[in-house]
Amino acid sequence: MAYTPSEARYEEMVYNRCGRSGLKLPAISLGLWHNFGGVTTLENARNMVMRAFDLGITHFDLANNYGPPPGSAEENFGRILQQDLKGYRDELIISSKAGYYMWPGPYGEWGSRKNLISSLDQSLKRLGLDYVDIFYSHRFDPNTPLEETMMALDHIVRSGKALYIGISNYTAEQTAEAISILKSLGTPLLIHQPSYSMLNRWIENGLQDVLEENGVGSIAFTPLQQGMLTNKYLNGVPEDSRAASSSVFLNSHDITPEVLRKIRALNQLAAARGQSLAQLALAWALRGGKVTSALIGASRVSQIEDNVAALKNLEFSSEELDRIETILKT
Ligand code: NDP
Repeated sequence: MAYTPSEARYEEMVYNRCGRSGLKLPAISLGLWHNFGGVTTLENARNMVMRAFDLGITHFDLANNYGPPPGSAEENFGRILQQDLKGYRDELIISSKAGYYMWPGPYGEWGSRKNLISSLDQSLKRLGLDYVDIFYSHRFDPNTPLEETMMALDHIVRSGKALYIGISNYTAEQTAEAISILKSLGTPLLIHQPSYSMLNRWIENGLQDVLEENGVGSIAFTPLQQGMLTNKYLNGVPEDSRAASSSVFLNSHDITPEVLRKIRALNQLAAARGQSLAQLALAWALRGGKVTSALIGASRVSQIEDNVAALKNLEFSSEELDRIETILKT
């Protein structure tokens, strides 16, 4: 059946300004790394995208290699755009990235001008788009001069293939250098995409300061620690979970007794706030306004609904924040 978006789609979502740019991003964005590729059903992927849009999620995050197989998430999202969201392109922020392995030979990964521009051209074909809204260098390349990578990003914006540019997984020092090169080129860095969650706080040691000082936004990936910061693993590893799947990124050994102790205690705190553990984890990632958007993944519609409902309670008392620190230190 043809999809008509909900007329109420902008009523509940919170939109945060991305650094000092003119662009606002939804406080919760949807990433298509898992569960949107060729091995999952297009119907489930389609339902998740449509429900997300109905809930005010305007930002969908992709990369050249999302699948599996690599490229298939962009192809599927391209189908959904064509079939369901065709008239809504101007209401969407679509991102892609290049940097991780995509094709054989010396040009299929990392940060050369050759890789970034060729990869974006491939992504645009798969997506069926003339431009993406944000294009990222997916990882720092120690063997390519940073000037070359940044000049390629600047060129991509000037050629109209992306409206804004971002970097992902760069350290604080690499980010400061990238910002300075981009400033001299005249294309500001819009956003950094780092990992960040209650169980992974590396960005608090320098990167957040660099971003704040330079008016660059941030979108935190894996804010639910791939599902560990939800009710999913509280009582074992369900068969239909990422940890039980063949994913190389999360497996049942990651759910250690120490993690379980923490997530059970956090779950109790969440319940006292009238939230699910996932909602607590997202509200925490967004606390204090340093993170522009929390970039979630999902395997079913109900998870997206649960996660967006986090926005109903984003406030923390200092006692709650102290309690969280204590739990995370144990
Ligand atoms: P999350 O930490 O949000 O984990 C998502 C997983 O958690 C889901 O697949 C689901 O697991 C589980 N989940 C989500 N919501 C709930 C809920 N309410 N209740 C119970 N379980 C829930 O993020 P991802 O690891 O999926 O990453 C999100 C996005 O970040 C990616 O799609 C991608 O866009 C981006 N990313 C970027 C990277 C980069 O290098 N720039 C690297 C990694 C991710 P299950 O499938 O088991 O149901």
